Amino acid sequence: MAETIFAKIIRKEIPADIVYQDELVTAFRDINAQAPSHILIVPNKAIATAADVTHEDELALGRLFTVARKLAEAEGLEKGYRLIVNCKEHGHQEVFHLHMHLLGGRALGPMLSITND
Ligand code: AMP
Repeated sequence: MAETIFAKIIRKEIPADIVYQDELVTAFRDINAQAPSHILIVPNKAIATAADVTHEDELALGRLFTVARKLAEAEGLEKGYRLIVNCKEHGHQEVFHLHMHLLGGRALGPMLSITND
């Protein structure tokens, strides 16, 4: 797969507001935040999409959730938040390095946009 900008962020070759990193995952603030808290949590291994995950990825993918919980607590999101993984064209995925969005800090409304863009 082609390398994405997220691989460079994980290796700290380009700047990003990294809020967490361990041997399996890296979390950094989305450059185009859609909510007061908008953090991307990504496996350090470059898995292109949710359609490409394998059994070997289960530890890292589970870590996305435990890190999301810790970051949500750190961000003060006790009223709740949303975790999103977009997949390929119909999921409106833009960066082909699997990532989980953590969004919170305001009421987010119904889950799906009904626009066609
Ligand atoms: P998705 O549509 O799920 O692929 O989301 C990709 C997200 O990556 C978008 O919300 C972008 O704002 C975000 N993004 C793209 N480039 C960067 C970057 N250099 N640093 C932080 N977030 C980024």
